[in-house]
Amino acid sequence: MTPMKKKIISILCAALMLTSLASCGKEEEKPSEYYSATFFAMDTEVTVKLSRSAGADENGKVTYHDDSHLSQIVKECANIAAKTEAKLSRTIADSAVSELNKETDYFLGTDPEVLMLIKTAEKYSKLSDGAFDVTVGSVTELWNVTSDSAAVPSDESIAEAMSHVGYEKLVTDGVTLKKTDRKTKIDLGAIGKGYALGKIMEYLKTTDVSYGLVSFGGNVGTFGTKPNGAKYKVGVTDAADTSRVIGYVYIGEGFVSVSGDYERFFVEDGKAYGHIFDPSTGRPAESDVVSVAVIMNDAAGADALSTALFVMGSDGVTELYGKSASVPDFEAVVQLKDGTVLLTDGLKGEGGFEKYVEPESAAE
Ligand code: AMP
Ligand code: MG
Repeated sequence: MTPMKKKIISILCAALMLTSLASCGKEEEKPSEYYSATFFAMDTEVTVKLSRSAGADENGKVTYHDDSHLSQIVKECANIAAKTEAKLSRTIADSAVSELNKETDYFLGTDPEVLMLIKTAEKYSKLSDGAFDVTVGSVTELWNVTSDSAAVPSDESIAEAMSHVGYEKLVTDGVTLKKTDRKTKIDLGAIGKGYALGKIMEYLKTTDVSYGLVSFGGNVGTFGTKPNGAKYKVGVTDAADTSRVIGYVYIGEGFVSVSGDYERFFVEDGKAYGHIFDPSTGRPAESDVVSVAVIMNDAAGADALSTALFVMGSDGVTELYGKSASVPDFEAVVQLKDGTVLLTDGLKGEGGFEKYVEPESAAE
């Protein structure tokens, strides 16, 4: 792996930081609260944390799952991620998406799961008025932000790539897919990790693990109920300094997805070019937002919406928030370029968002 790639991945993994509210207890023989393991999928690190507790026996003595049992469960999570990646990746030559990205206009027999995800993507394109658009593939391919030789393309090549972008160029009935422009390319990078995370959480709910959490790139999912109904505390990275957080959100079972231009970018002539594009310009999105965390009970939706809101900026948050007839319910923590942090109404007040306060320096 190149040093650049390593840097990008470590930055990406800092997108959300997980902490647990429950204490780990004081008895020495008591194992840590979570069994934790990490694997790599979809170009990012995935961390799975599973509660070790297997409940109490008839005498009230708490029993614990074996590590080997929990490691098998993590293996299955990795399997789910790998299988999903094998369908959705645009860089795996025989994936369903690579097939759809061939210069053909009519496809029959595409994986139904992929067509369903394209349908979901269409919903988010419509509600964001095209700010989120999985047909942005020709633009992402042109800019190739994560390559070591990334450079700003010419205006002509941007215009050419742009001419193939537009979600209305994909028409699917769930069985067939028709591209009205053969050169249109699909990029599920803004929804795929969330979607895979959702599948992992569905699986985890079927196991005998009572609660836990998974961090998948910039997406976090939680499942089950913690002792005493305690909430999960999820840190939101400060886009201006990724070694710290701007604060924490407290959630029950659900998802938090973060999109930020500090995640993947290259620098040319002192200017940073991020990996999230404005489909209306074919260039990296430049709204007033540097990072947006979306909290929602749907994993793919949270992922799609965080990308959409990053492109739309704070006006987009105002426009889409509370429109439950057309937009699924969500909450958001929005960090602006000037450092201001905006919160949607549901996060204001007690138990919503806890702003990070620098500990007072001991050496005064
Ligand atoms: P995320 O990190 O979830 O915000 O997704 C960003 C990734 O989605 C990028 O690396 C691209 O692969 C892809 N992408 C970039 N811009 C858009 C956009 N406007 N709509 C949909 N996908 C995008
Ligand atoms: Mg996204």
